[in-house]
Amino acid sequence: MSAAEREMLAVLAEHGFRATRPRRAIVQALCEADAPLTLSALHRAARARYPKTGLATLYRTLEVLERCGLVHRIQLNGESYLMACADQSLHYHLVCVKCHKVVEVHAPQAEEWLGALARQHGFTMSAAPIEVRGVCAACRT
Ligand SMILES: [Zn+2]
Ligand SMILES: [Zn+2]
Repeated sequence: MSAAEREMLAVLAEHGFRATRPRRAIVQALCEADAPLTLSALHRAARARYPKTGLATLYRTLEVLERCGLVHRIQLNGESYLMACADQSLHYHLVCVKCHKVVEVHAPQAEEWLGALARQHGFTMSAAPIEVRGVCAACRT
C-alpha cells in the first residue's frame, strides 16, 4: 500500500468511514491511476478491484476526500476529472491537454512572485494547486 493510500484511508477513518473493501478499491484506483479519471472511469477502475463497489459509496468517499484536500478536480474539455493530490502546500499541476497526464511540481521562486502580485491586488494566496496547461513531451513527438 502506498503512502498516499494509507493517508487517504486514515483520513476516511477519522471521519468515521472504515476501510471497507469498496472504499479501499476506490482509494487504490485513485492512487494507481496514471492520469486523472472521470467519475465513470474511476468507478470502473474501482469495480475492477472490487466488483461490488457502488456509486453511492463512490460519491460519499469522494466527498470526504475532496473536503479533506486529498482529491483534486480538473476540468478538461467540459468534463470533470479526479486525481489523488495530498500535497497541501502551494504547488503546480502541469496538465497535458492531450493525454491528461499531470506532473506535480514545486516552484518557490514563482510562489514569491505570485504572492507579491496577489498582495498588490489585496489578495492573500491559498495553497490550492495552480494549473499550467500544455502538451507533454510524449504527446509532442
Ligand atoms: Zn497536486
Ligand atoms: Zn501528453
